[in-house]
Amino acid sequence: MSGVLQINAARTASVTDAMRSVFVELLVHGPMSRAEAARRLNLSPSALTKLTKPLLEDGYLVEQPVENRNAVGRPSLPLSVDASRAQFIGIKLTADQLFGVRTDLLATVRAETRLSLPNHDVQAVVAQIATAVRQLSEPDYRITSIGLSLAGVVSPGDPVVHASPFLGWRQVPLADLVREQTGLPVVLDNDVRALTAAQQWFGAGVGQRSFTLITVGAGIGCGLVINGQLATGHNRATGLIGHLVIDGNGPLCEQGHRGCARSYATSTAVRRNIRATLDRPELTFDDCLTLARDGNTVARRVVDDAGRALGQVVATVANLTGPDVVILSGEAVDMITISDTAFHASLNEHTHWTTDPVPVVIKPFAFNEWARGAAVAALQYQVTGE
Ligand SMILES: [Zn+2]
Repeated sequence: MSGVLQINAARTASVTDAMRSVFVELLVHGPMSRAEAARRLNLSPSALTKLTKPLLEDGYLVEQPVENRNAVGRPSLPLSVDASRAQFIGIKLTADQLFGVRTDLLATVRAETRLSLPNHDVQAVVAQIATAVRQLSEPDYRITSIGLSLAGVVSPGDPVVHASPFLGWRQVPLADLVREQTGLPVVLDNDVRALTAAQQWFGAGVGQRSFTLITVGAGIGCGLVINGQLATGHNRATGLIGHLVIDGNGPLCEQGHRGCARSYATSTAVRRNIRATLDRPELTFDDCLTLARDGNTVARRVVDDAGRALGQVVATVANLTGPDVVILSGEAVDMITISDTAFHASLNEHTHWTTDPVPVVIKPFAFNEWARGAAVAALQYQVTGE
């Protein structure tokens, strides 16, 4: 197995699960002293020193300088991951665009790009991916691997996109095609799962045993971390909550369900419901949010209905999985801040009576978040094999 910790081939045999655990602890929670790392991992100080030695020699870890050294005894220098030791490219595919980033080992974005997809022909999309990789690469930075994310049935360790509704693909060996064009290892992942991985290691999910990420945009996505594990399922499909029935007399979704969450709470549904009632087909989603903010009665009612639907979605997921926190994100997350009162009233109403409503964190969305998630999925796969 090749991985981020195994660039030095001579050391391949010596990378152990314990060494990976130390590395992940410092990657996610560092910097910290050796004593603190040993305590957190339930290791003896000597065991920790032995495990970190090769990581220091290979440059994955560095000792941070301490300004005020204690005059007595040898100071314990905090250990941290050297962010510049490895670089990843993350690419998110949508129906009409490709978003790309290059990140360092701590998932900080170092370069970004955005390209249009002229059509959904596989070779044309692969060619655009290769162009993005060239744009994001620099001679000084060796890329460890490429993470590619998209909505659909796709999972790390499997080179095939089994189904992608937005691209109309079935059984496309995308990882192999991109590797042939770029010469780099490729990790495929579902976009929501990749974004959840980024929250788990570098976002609001750090330090949470169980959390849920719910994304609101063109669809409603749901990623689950339960007892420290990013949930996977049959075909890696979990968290398919978008068609939860909210009101049997509500509007129709694109699948013909009456009153499901998607018929109220996607950016498409909000725009459609406001346009139809106001008879203003020119309105964009942002126009609709502006109208709701400015107190237009129809726009406000539609956005409040979306907030209520999302409150029920969050309560239902929380009732089922018991997360410590629910993180809300995605391109349309702003509508929850507008419908805050309706959202929380619905969350309270649908939370099981034996528990308190789950804490909710609303994370403002940046356009390159999905691509950064893809880079973190590649990093996580390289480090843990999952
Ligand atoms: Zn539906």
